[in-house]
Amino acid sequence: MTPLEFDRDHLWHPYTNVAKPGPVHLVKEAEGIWLTLDEGARVIDAMSSWWCTIHGHRHPQIVQAMHDQLDRLPHVMFGGLTHDPAVELGKRLIAMLPDALDRVFYCDSGSVSVEVAMKMAVQYQMAMGRTGRSGFATIRGGYHGDTWKAMSVCDPVNGMHGLFRGALGIEHFLPRPPVQLGQDWPEDPAQNGVAEMDALLSERADHLAAVILEPVVQGAGGMYFYHPQYLAELRKRCDQHGILLIFDEIATGFGRTGKAFALEHAGVVPDIICLGKALTGGHISFAATVATKAVAYGIGESEAGVFMHGPTFMGNPLACAAACASLDLLADGAWQTRVAQIEAQLRAELEPARAFDGVADVRVLGAIGVIQMKDWVDPSIAHARARDTGVYLRPFAYNIYTMPPFTTGPDDLSRITSAMLGLAREA
Ligand SMILES: *Cc1c(COP(=O)(O)O)cnc(C)c1O
Repeated sequence: MTPLEFDRDHLWHPYTNVAKPGPVHLVKEAEGIWLTLDEGARVIDAMSSWWCTIHGHRHPQIVQAMHDQLDRLPHVMFGGLTHDPAVELGKRLIAMLPDALDRVFYCDSGSVSVEVAMKMAVQYQMAMGRTGRSGFATIRGGYHGDTWKAMSVCDPVNGMHGLFRGALGIEHFLPRPPVQLGQDWPEDPAQNGVAEMDALLSERADHLAAVILEPVVQGAGGMYFYHPQYLAELRKRCDQHGILLIFDEIATGFGRTGKAFALEHAGVVPDIICLGKALTGGHISFAATVATKAVAYGIGESEAGVFMHGPTFMGNPLACAAACASLDLLADGAWQTRVAQIEAQLRAELEPARAFDGVADVRVLGAIGVIQMKDWVDPSIAHARARDTGVYLRPFAYNIYTMPPFTTGPDDLSRITSAMLGLAREA
């Protein structure tokens, strides 16, 4: 039995039917932006392995930091114990984030960091004596992960609500922010989405613990970019009604949108932020939920008296060491120039797609380039092309997109954009 045969017969892949598994490539090793497949074929990882490997794969500094940590302390429980990598990472995160965000909860994955944020919000509201405030509001088109509560605030149509009908709690959905990034902000609340925001938040304030959303860029819910002013309006209203604001920056954090965090586009500070994906530069799973002092101390006043969460692998030293090394690589700020160059090149090279029959829109922000098609894109076509084009793309829904590593050079980026144009022309 070849490895691929065993894989097909026994291993589950994301969102697949075991009876009809899709095609998979066997990856032997990875370095920088390149994946080496079996038989030695090399392809560019234009997805940054689901948006994580911002410095490329197997970055020598991150690998070295992980080796050093492996030799000292790969893991230890975080209950009653701490260690240098956790402390160092905390220092780096707090220095990068807006001042108000300064209590860090480490966890294992993005979805868990969303669960943690939502539990924090509910415990905080209880502590404030606002009983009944256990609901959440969000905007349509979002994605917050696949665990139970996170799923309940994903888009109700393209998320999994229909499939799990009746099993998920009912949350409150605002329309997708109607004003796109780059458009003028109309002052009329009926046009800019604020009318619906006002109606929902004032009507449901007694039931809402928090509003949770991805700032500016909605990722896996459809690669939609919206006007940052929406977030400023939302912040004002959340404050008026005592509703917490949670930013899910799992996809947008650590430079992807051209700013260290997408919240900088809006100049808005949330009460709680979720971080993940690129946190370790894609070298190992890790995530964090960071709250303001007010929220953290508030939770301490709750009936439980403590925040009720504590994963087994909380604060894993190996992951903390990887994350520290990744943040060190961002520290000199050189990524900003590189992301700006990637943005300019993506804009120039994806623009021709606008003229293709099947294309609905072309959008670029930071190191995110999207060709949105009029029809659903079959990802297996891109998959089959990878060896020929030398580019691994994994379109979803209507979108052919790239989120390349920030280390991608101009020639390699052109290979990515021409592979995208090739798919868009034929689709
Ligand atoms: C990927 C993602 C998540 C979930 O993270 P996992 O590590 O897959 O659990 C949550 N929110 C956003 C915005 C994401 O992009």
